[in-house]
Amino acid sequence: MTRIPVLLYHPVTDDPPAWIAEFAVTPRQFASHLDAIADSGRTPLTIGALTGHLAAGTPLPPRPVVLTFDDGFADLAGPTAEALAARALPATAYLTTGALAPGRPCLLPPAPMMTLAQAPRLEEHGLEIGAHTVSHPQLDTLRPAALRRELADPKAELEDLLGHEVRHLAYPHGYNSPAVRRAARAAGYASAVAVRHALSSPADEPFRIARLIVRRTHTTADVRAWLAGTGARTAPYPDSLPTLGWRLYRRTRALLKGPEFAG
Ligand SMILES: [Zn+2]
Repeated sequence: MTRIPVLLYHPVTDDPPAWIAEFAVTPRQFASHLDAIADSGRTPLTIGALTGHLAAGTPLPPRPVVLTFDDGFADLAGPTAEALAARALPATAYLTTGALAPGRPCLLPPAPMMTLAQAPRLEEHGLEIGAHTVSHPQLDTLRPAALRRELADPKAELEDLLGHEVRHLAYPHGYNSPAVRRAARAAGYASAVAVRHALSSPADEPFRIARLIVRRTHTTADVRAWLAGTGARTAPYPDSLPTLGWRLYRRTRALLKGPEFAG
């Protein structure tokens, strides 16, 4: 089976805020990962290209790999986009629109962020832009009207800004459910990425594509293992009982306490 690593990055910085430090890598680590990708002989693709091939049934390029960036941290529109462009590496950036303009309600704790006005700059550097909701909620805990808004509003806003359709979504924290996946499809998205800590594959589900979250503690050897198609299980696979129980707990808590950042 073709195993497809879909890597998930957050900020690439030497100086992350404490709340995201676990999921930040340094520019030096990042450059080492990009070297590993070049050495792997894999073909970097955007999510749009990957899911386009899978939907159309056209052959995938040999041994794909996908780089994704969530939220829109400040480095993305600067040195990170430049590092990708210098190596001609395509990637997909999922933007949390509420975090990228001042004065909007957003559950993400404070951090240096890029601005929405910089989104076209990402495209100039070869990044594809997808949506990552407005306020970064746990989508599988929302009531239907709020769920629809969190899916539709960032899509419309990014489309107005970029002048073309935005077809790809990332679930905040990866949290989704059958109802969330149906709502994403109904909102006009063509794919959605989750987290799952697994390699993806051509048989993976287009509305919960598995990604591997890159942590500060991962070594370049870990990244090389994923690029070799090892070091993690391969999606699709069924939800485990602990996953289902955790969702029930989060939903109950959201009903009692209202929306909160999941950490
Ligand atoms: Zn996020």
